[in-house]
Amino acid sequence: MNTIYKRCKILFLLVAFVIAGMSVLAGTFIVKGNEYVIKSANRHLYSGGVLISGGRVLDRNGVTLSSIHDGERIYSDYSSYRRSTLHLVGDQYGFIANGVQTTWASELIGYNLITGVFNAGENGGNDLRLTVDADVNAAALSALDGRKGCVGVYNYKTGALLCDVSAPTYDVYDKPSNSDIEDDATGRYTGLYLNKLFAGQYVPGSVFKTVTAVCAIENIPDVFSRTFRCEGEWTAADGKAIICNDEHGYVTFEEAFNQSCNVAFAQLAIELGANRLQKTADKLGLNAGFRTDRIMTAKGSVDLSGASVSDLGWAGFGQYTDIVNPAAIMTMMGAIANGGVAVKPYFVDSVSSPSGANVYSASTSELGTYMSPQTASLMDGILRSTVTDYYGESKFEGLRVCAKSGTAEVGGGLEPHAWFAGYSQREDFPYAFVVVVENGGSGYNTAGSVASEVLDALYYALDR
Ligand SMILES: [Zn+2]
Repeated sequence: MNTIYKRCKILFLLVAFVIAGMSVLAGTFIVKGNEYVIKSANRHLYSGGVLISGGRVLDRNGVTLSSIHDGERIYSDYSSYRRSTLHLVGDQYGFIANGVQTTWASELIGYNLITGVFNAGENGGNDLRLTVDADVNAAALSALDGRKGCVGVYNYKTGALLCDVSAPTYDVYDKPSNSDIEDDATGRYTGLYLNKLFAGQYVPGSVFKTVTAVCAIENIPDVFSRTFRCEGEWTAADGKAIICNDEHGYVTFEEAFNQSCNVAFAQLAIELGANRLQKTADKLGLNAGFRTDRIMTAKGSVDLSGASVSDLGWAGFGQYTDIVNPAAIMTMMGAIANGGVAVKPYFVDSVSSPSGANVYSASTSELGTYMSPQTASLMDGILRSTVTDYYGESKFEGLRVCAKSGTAEVGGGLEPHAWFAGYSQREDFPYAFVVVVENGGSGYNTAGSVASEVLDALYYALDR
């Protein structure tokens, strides 16, 4: 009796092991099947480690940016499209780790659990349509004119990204050699593989006055009736100087924002205190990245713990140790335009099978409520008067642009980074934008001019 019982127990354990093993295998197949299939050792899809199968990558108008021809992956005939969409489209070798040809490879190949990669091959695989406009991207790269930096434009109501350019870039048909990149001492290839709109981390300079202004509006009830006095320099309580870019004389809060007075914004930051300013920076998404279309954006770093009085003053206009990501600035501007609600940017519009069936469609999602509608409306007013009363409308005729520039000191004897970020108020043109030109000098003159060319190109592209 005892022996039978023991045998039963052993048999039962064996059966349990077999069932457990099969469950793990089936589970892995379901969860990881696509990863196994798209491994570069799969010769149906790759040749010499290079992706040679799958569908096309298209821009928003259906312009082909990447496709398969005679068993080879080919790209647009236009070098301007190839270079300006490189960081979004990626390459078949995987140098651009965050390009859709890598991150959306299983959809491009057309893997599914039932048929495997039955659809792969020439004219097979799924087509992946992006939200960007190749012409606008090309215009943005041309406007950067060989300088490093990035440009982003997105619809602040839907989240669709219309423009995403990062420089330096290269032509996928004429990639600089690995040794050229590694041995380069000039810095011209620094960040070559990065999509800086999402991966960049920069000193914000005066674009950050937007953050301090939001904090002031939310915490100082009479801030719009305040007057500040700027003599070009001001000494904080710890005896250290705050330097302004001009002698602004007596200015109101709105004028101080319009004219980008450092003294006024240092005084505001110090009055608000590290805790409140930190809370606002966190709430506006500057210290967190976000996940979109299988990539994670870079976090900024606004850390005011341990800042001295004058440090806090410098932080109030985007210096001290402030670091931000360009996409976070773009979405913050989008939130102001959108009544306080930040909509998440996305760049994959849809995926469709060779028969035209819809495999995936993007949908709008929110990053959160960044501020009250009242604060957004007051910010909208001072961002608008910055253009109408200070910059002038010449660069943005008829577009009702609201914006703030930044000329961010980076030290080391280098020219400052030029920033220009904002949005159009027009209901029929609901776009927010960010431009960073590394070591570009003046925010408005340099980055503002790039923004002007890009918005013109977008307006024209949408009007066609
Ligand atoms: Zn000043």
